[in-house]
Amino acid sequence: MTPALTNPALSADLTTPGRQALDSALQQLHQAAEHLGLDHGLRTMLATPRRSLTVSVPLRREDGRMDVVQGFRVQHNISRGPAKGGIRFHPATDIHEVTALAMWMTWKCALVGIPYGGAKGGVSVDPKALTPRELERLTRRYVNEILPMIGPEKDIPAPDVGTDEQTMAWIMDTYSVNTGYSVPGVVTGKPTTLGGSLGRAGATSRGVQIAALAALGRSPEGVTVAVQGFGKVGALAAQYLADAGCVVVAVSDASGAVHAPGGLDVAALRAHAAEAGGVLGYPHADALGHDDLLELDVDVLVPAALENVITAANAPRIRARLVVEGANGPTTPEADEILAAGGTTVVPDILANAGGVIVSYLEWVQNMQAYSWSAGEVDVKLRDLMESAFGEVRSLAGERGLTLRQAAHVIGVGRVAEAHRMRGLYP
Ligand code: NAD
Repeated sequence: MTPALTNPALSADLTTPGRQALDSALQQLHQAAEHLGLDHGLRTMLATPRRSLTVSVPLRREDGRMDVVQGFRVQHNISRGPAKGGIRFHPATDIHEVTALAMWMTWKCALVGIPYGGAKGGVSVDPKALTPRELERLTRRYVNEILPMIGPEKDIPAPDVGTDEQTMAWIMDTYSVNTGYSVPGVVTGKPTTLGGSLGRAGATSRGVQIAALAALGRSPEGVTVAVQGFGKVGALAAQYLADAGCVVVAVSDASGAVHAPGGLDVAALRAHAAEAGGVLGYPHADALGHDDLLELDVDVLVPAALENVITAANAPRIRARLVVEGANGPTTPEADEILAAGGTTVVPDILANAGGVIVSYLEWVQNMQAYSWSAGEVDVKLRDLMESAFGEVRSLAGERGLTLRQAAHVIGVGRVAEAHRMRGLYP
C-alpha cells in the first residue's frame, strides 16, 4: 500500500523548543534595546533576520526509498561583515531555533570584536539514523540547495550539534566543485589537511575553560564541576577544566549521566564514550538521572548540550554557584532571574562559548591569506580575545548593576546598532 503523503518535518509539534529559544532571544534583545534606548525601527530590524531560506532536501536511502527533510539557513545580520554560524543536524531543528541561534551569533561576534554578522543553518534529521553515505548525500544536497547564500565573503558555515569536520569537508568540496576551484574559506572547522586551523577542534571548550576560570576568580584546584553534554564542546570542556585542577564529578550525554563524587578520569571516560557510543556504562562511576545532573551540589555547572534545559521549573533547585554556558540558549529568561536572585552567576553563551567562532575567524583569516599559524599563536589570540571580552562584560555589569548576560547583550547589540547607524539606511 502507498504510504500517506506526509513530511515528518512538516507534521512536527508546533510548540517546539525552537520557538521557546526564539522567544528567549527576543526577550534578551528587548532588554538590551531598552537599556540602550534604541528606537522602534532599529529594534524591529534587529529582531528580524535579514535573510531566511527554507529548503526541501530529498535524500536517497540505501534501500532505494526517497525521504524529504527540511533544511534551513538564516542570516540574521550582516551589518558588520559576512554572516557566520554553524550547521546543526538534529530532528528537533526548525526555522525558529535556527533564527534564534543566528541572532545569538550576531551578538557574539560583535561582543568579541570579530568582523562578522550572525547566521545559522540546520537540517531536521537525526544523523545517527543515517549511514555515512546517506549523511554525505544529505549534506551535499542541502549545501547545493543553500549554495546561493554561502561563500567566503558572504556566509561561512561551521560545525554545530550533529555535524563535524567531515561534514565541513563535504561542504567545502561541494562548494568548490560548483565554483570550479578549491575554496577553503567557505567553511571553518575543516580538517587541517584542507586548511582547517590548528586549535579549532578544541576552541569552544578552551574558551569555556578560560571563561570559567576568569569567573571563578580563585584557584581552580579542587573546584567541583558537572557537565551536561559530552559532545564536541562538553567532552573537551570537561577535559580542559580537569587539566586546570578542577574535579569533574558528573557528565551526561544523550545515552545517560554518570557520577563519581571523588572525580571522573575524563580522559578514560572520553575513550569509553568513543568506543561505547556514549558515557553510559562507564565502569568507574554511578549512573545518574539526566535531570539530576543539573541539580548536583557543585561549584560549576557547564550545560553543553541543547537549549532550554535550565527553566523556571528546575532553576530553584540548581545548586551550582557558577553556570558557564557551553551550549547556546540553555537557560530561559525566567530561569535567569531565579538564578540571579539566588546568587548564582551565569557566564552567558554569547561570551562563554565564543572560543569556537573566534578560532573560526582565525581559520578564515588564514584561508584568505593562504597562510597558517602555529597552535601556540592561535591559542594566544584566542585567550586575548576571550579575556578582553570577559573583562569588558564584567566591568559593564559592575558599573551598571547588570547580570553578565545583560551586560554582554548590551555590548553586542550596541555594537550592531552602532554599525547600522554609521552605515545609514539604503536607499
Ligand atoms: P555535539 O553534537 O558534538 O554534542 C552534543 C552533546 O549533547 C552530545 O554528547 C549529546 O549526546 C548530548 N545531548 C543531547 N541531548 C542531551 C540531553 N538531554 N542530556 C544530556 N546530553 C545531551 O554538539 P556540540 O558541537 O558539542 O554543541 C553543543 C552545544 O554547544 C550546542 O548548543 C551548540 O550550539 C553549542 N556550541 C557549539 C560550538 C562548536 O564549535 N561545536 C560552538 C559554540 C557553541
